[in-house]
Amino acid sequence: MNTNADRVKYFAYHDGLTGLYNRAGFESRVKEVLASNISPNKRYTILRWNIEDFKLINEMFGRVEGDRVLQFMPRLFQEMNIADVILGRLESDHFVAFYETAYYSVDKLEQFLTDVTDKFHLEHYVKIKIGVYNIENKETDVNHMIDCANIAAMTIKGSRTCHCAIFTEEMRQEMVHAEVISASLEAALEREEIEIYLQPVMDTRTKKILGAEVLSRWNHSEKGFLFPGSFIPCLEKNGLIMKLDRYVWEKACRILSDAKMSRHPEITLSVNMSRHILQEGGAVKTIKELLDRYHIAPSRFKVEITESTYMNCTTGIMETIQELRNIGIAILMDDFGTGFSSLEVLRKIPMDCLKIDISFVQNILTDIRSKIIVEHVIPMAKELGMTIIAEGVETKDQEKLLTAMGCEAVQGYLYEKPIPVYEFEEKYCK
Ligand code: C2E
Ligand code: CA
Ligand code: CA
Repeated sequence: MNTNADRVKYFAYHDGLTGLYNRAGFESRVKEVLASNISPNKRYTILRWNIEDFKLINEMFGRVEGDRVLQFMPRLFQEMNIADVILGRLESDHFVAFYETAYYSVDKLEQFLTDVTDKFHLEHYVKIKIGVYNIENKETDVNHMIDCANIAAMTIKGSRTCHCAIFTEEMRQEMVHAEVISASLEAALEREEIEIYLQPVMDTRTKKILGAEVLSRWNHSEKGFLFPGSFIPCLEKNGLIMKLDRYVWEKACRILSDAKMSRHPEITLSVNMSRHILQEGGAVKTIKELLDRYHIAPSRFKVEITESTYMNCTTGIMETIQELRNIGIAILMDDFGTGFSSLEVLRKIPMDCLKIDISFVQNILTDIRSKIIVEHVIPMAKELGMTIIAEGVETKDQEKLLTAMGCEAVQGYLYEKPIPVYEFEEKYCK
């Protein structure tokens, strides 16, 4: 860099900390290569990656250490030995790379990134998440290519072992879907597009109804009729699920207070409670107010908490559960057996009912291990003072076996699928 002008140009296209290209520099270099068209059959790949929990590294070890980790990135790529790679840093811990696809396969990349921490003797855990975009059309805007690689990278979230994901059109569609769902929730609640469905829980001995689980369905103005599987996960990602939960709880209280259900005080309703709302606090107050407003006995309103929610269970969560039980609300442990620490949860948190997950129930006749587990879980839960509901019971044989094992309540297609409220009341609240 001889002149001032050279220096200005250099910094317009480079990143001061790492010496890599910045966004403008990267874009311009990639465009140049793609436009050069020396060998039109060559295929190229763009990577976009970031360091998982980089903020945490900064907070725990200080900015100097954070910068050191960022400066390590060019070295990492040198070690990979990818010919003619163009590297850039977009901002913070977000990096990009461009190279000829044939030079480096994704499998090789995945292999290389395993145990980066050990391989490079880093002092703390570093995980790199890479989104891969294989360029189809060389005229596509470079920033769009980077965005696509980013969409792929976002799908890796949560996995300890996976480092790379290759962009597919389905990933983009899924992301757009999630955005539409989140953006339309508020209006949907106002327009009452979310419908309540009820699925009975039946007594295996008397064959009478004990209560029902409250489940949502969404009559979406653009997307049509949606099952929870296509909107709950989207709302869980950004916490909007809390709005849905509160809405559903209020609907449940209204149902309990309407004329038909009031004639059947023995029928209880159980609602689902998301991890977000449990963590945020305020759930007890909301429920108390609702029960007061609609004059509902707490014993008729139950709360289901899915097992995975208890992972990293904080004292806040435990206190909320205890407070709910103190005012007479039963807590159901949902999806039992699917989390990582089912027994640990049972040991630590007193609850009222255990719902055996559908995956055990559906295999109970064919898989001896599922059978043995359920057979032992039932008496154990009973000794802990809990009742048991088996979920997803579809056949008489499943019910027979579960009853013989001591299970007193079932929920499943054998008796009823989730049905709209008016249908439920017609059938069960005569
Ligand atoms: P979940 O709490 O485990 O609810 C039971 C699910 O199993 C329901 O699916 C139900 O339709 C299905 N199911 C019941 N019996 C059978 C059976 O015999 N066979 C089969 N194959 N499936 C059966 P659904 O309604 O699609 O709900 C899926 C999940 O979405 C629920 O799982 C629950 O975790 C969540 N969810 C639904 N509504 C809400 C809500 O309002 N708030 C929150 N936070 N979560 C909800
Ligand atoms: Ca449930
Ligand atoms: Ca369940």
